[in-house]
Amino acid sequence: MANILLVNPALAYSGWNADLRHPSPDSVFIRLGIAYLAGSLKARGHAVTLADLRTLSGWEEYGRLVESVSPDFVGISIHSVEFPFAVEAARRAKRILPRVKAIAGGVHPTMFPEECLEEGVFDHVLKGEGEVSLPLLVKDPSRFPRVFWGETPDLDKIPFPDRDVWPDLRQRLACEPFGIKGYRFPLPMAEMINTRGCPYQCTFCCGPGEHQVYSRPSAGGDRKTYIRGRSVANVVAELEMLMEKYGIRSVMFHDDQFILSPQWVERFIEALHSRGIVKAGLKWVTSSRADIICRNDRLIGKMADAGLELLIIGFESFSPRILKWFGKGVTAEENFRAAEICRTHGVKVWANYILGIPTDTGWRMEDDLATVEGVLRVRPVHYSPALYTPVPGSLLYPYYKDNGLILEASESGDLNDRGAMTPKVKGVDYDLLKSIMMDDSAFL
Ligand code: SF4
Repeated sequence: MANILLVNPALAYSGWNADLRHPSPDSVFIRLGIAYLAGSLKARGHAVTLADLRTLSGWEEYGRLVESVSPDFVGISIHSVEFPFAVEAARRAKRILPRVKAIAGGVHPTMFPEECLEEGVFDHVLKGEGEVSLPLLVKDPSRFPRVFWGETPDLDKIPFPDRDVWPDLRQRLACEPFGIKGYRFPLPMAEMINTRGCPYQCTFCCGPGEHQVYSRPSAGGDRKTYIRGRSVANVVAELEMLMEKYGIRSVMFHDDQFILSPQWVERFIEALHSRGIVKAGLKWVTSSRADIICRNDRLIGKMADAGLELLIIGFESFSPRILKWFGKGVTAEENFRAAEICRTHGVKVWANYILGIPTDTGWRMEDDLATVEGVLRVRPVHYSPALYTPVPGSLLYPYYKDNGLILEASESGDLNDRGAMTPKVKGVDYDLLKSIMMDDSAFL
């Protein structure tokens, strides 16, 4: 059986030495994709160790970990913003152990397999989902080409995520990452995911990338997007395991859109009641689009009665011009109404919104002012702004790339910092923008 080092290269937002004493989602959350792979690898008898770069002091400590684990394979799950760290992790592992094979997976390698190969450090690129194929690859890599699609898994048949590969898991579960003023989620808090993929096509989002990851071969030989969820029974079984094993008292569901099927959510709520989970006091947080909330007023009430405490809403903007540019399919009025529905049912709102967006007619401060005023009117419990990032694989990316509008990391400041508040596009007066974003009094 093989010995695998799974690498989480998520340095872009938290850096090295991410401090759990100052928790944030970037420093606290595990990566469920890696935990799923660990569960599937271990179920096939392979040995798995995690190198979560955030928890290390730097590349020297990573090198010592590689030496002590002496893996046969290094498997790296890669988001675009982490690609340089992933390449460096593979390169260093091979320098220390020339026999080690490096495997790239995740959304960035799925979209850009050739770019991965060009780096000259990856032996295989696994496109799509890895739970079925990664254990087979590490058993006999000679059976697999350098770039290949992973077999699409049945989500009810793969093992639950193995969270225990994080040696400090219980400490992580005991951290409330949201930092909401005047409210703390009951702890320990775990993370779960019920659905894979999102059917919408917002132009700023890496949804098109996800559409490739969550796909399956069609009868015609090409691949078709395959958005799907787990059964209620499977999700509830994992919840009960988490409550029993770790004493979980709250859960974050990481679904892109929790209410993809209102009927599924109705059945889930019934199960939470019938299994005594609501009575046990479990609280939860998840995400939804504003228009879905508007269409499901009564359901939001039932979700609140079943323990929903917080909804993360991607308002993105309150400027009609930007909402159209983003292809969001939601109006500013729906944004306001969704927040009102949440307030009516006692559900707290976390507001995600984006500023600094040059369109084909340039950047306009009044768009960002409309957004800031809109978010202030919504009065969420948490303001979560981000400066617009052209995400590789998004529908808008070619526009910014082809027009030379992307600031390279070296032009935007710290080479390692590609976080939410790092300037990333040309044509935005970030100093002017910061005068409305950074003034705490504007948000309190
Ligand atoms: S922004 Fe949200 S709704 Fe739009 S494509 Fe992305 S995940 Fe889906």
